[in-house]
Amino acid sequence: MDDFELLIDLHSNNERQGPGSESATQMAIELAGLDRSTSLEIADMGCGTGASSLSLARCLNAHITALDLSVEFIDVLRKRAAKEGLSAKISPIVGSMENPGFAQQAYDVIWSEGAIYNIGFERGVREWMPLLKPSGMLVVSDITWLSNARPPDLEDYWLKEYAEIDSASSRIRILEKCGFTPVAYFVLPEYCWLDAYYHPLIESFPEFLSRHGNNDKAQALVDAELREIAMYKTFKRHYGYGVYIARKL
Ligand code: SAH
Repeated sequence: MDDFELLIDLHSNNERQGPGSESATQMAIELAGLDRSTSLEIADMGCGTGASSLSLARCLNAHITALDLSVEFIDVLRKRAAKEGLSAKISPIVGSMENPGFAQQAYDVIWSEGAIYNIGFERGVREWMPLLKPSGMLVVSDITWLSNARPPDLEDYWLKEYAEIDSASSRIRILEKCGFTPVAYFVLPEYCWLDAYYHPLIESFPEFLSRHGNNDKAQALVDAELREIAMYKTFKRHYGYGVYIARKL
């Protein structure tokens, strides 16, 4: 397995592949003012194994096009949707958010949790805007600086991982520049990182390592995840996941 395949293998058994929670998704639904009775077309960009797609399908009268680059994650989502009797509401698709091939003005909502960093916040916002119907809603979570002054080690780490990491005010300015009116912003609480994401991930390490005969590449991946987790625990005052909710003008 190459590094990407190993990464997919490590994460595919987990409920989510980034920080978030059922209650945070529900809060974003409320703040976006999504009507639970009208039928909605939603695109979930970088859906992973489908934590948010499934939440949306459970509580909204919606059809969700759930897009991810990983065939394995999409397979898991297909199975999870079938198990919950939600297959008719979710269309899982393997594809890239860079060029999803979606029709213009086709969606009431574009949703994306912990995935826009793959193409960068500004590019995602700019390129997804035309896919929304007029007055459509964008709900997107992205890594955000929570403080103005940061320790140099932390800056170095994140500038290597995601050079576009920025403050909420800069993100909101981008939304305004790209034809949106910002409606709400909140920061994911700590349990969305630790209880919902990092702790289940840590629990999956022993099985992952034994599945791969404790080889060096698998161990290196676990070590990198542990570094990321340690970084979060040390510096969580300085960064978090911001959830941005905006209406297309
Ligand atoms: N939204 C999910 C997954 C977040 S992890 C959750 O919150 O659990 C980021 C996801 O982006 C991964 O599933 C990864 O496979 C996907 N991804 C990475 N690059 C992508 C691309 N270019 N197009 C679509 N999905 C991509």
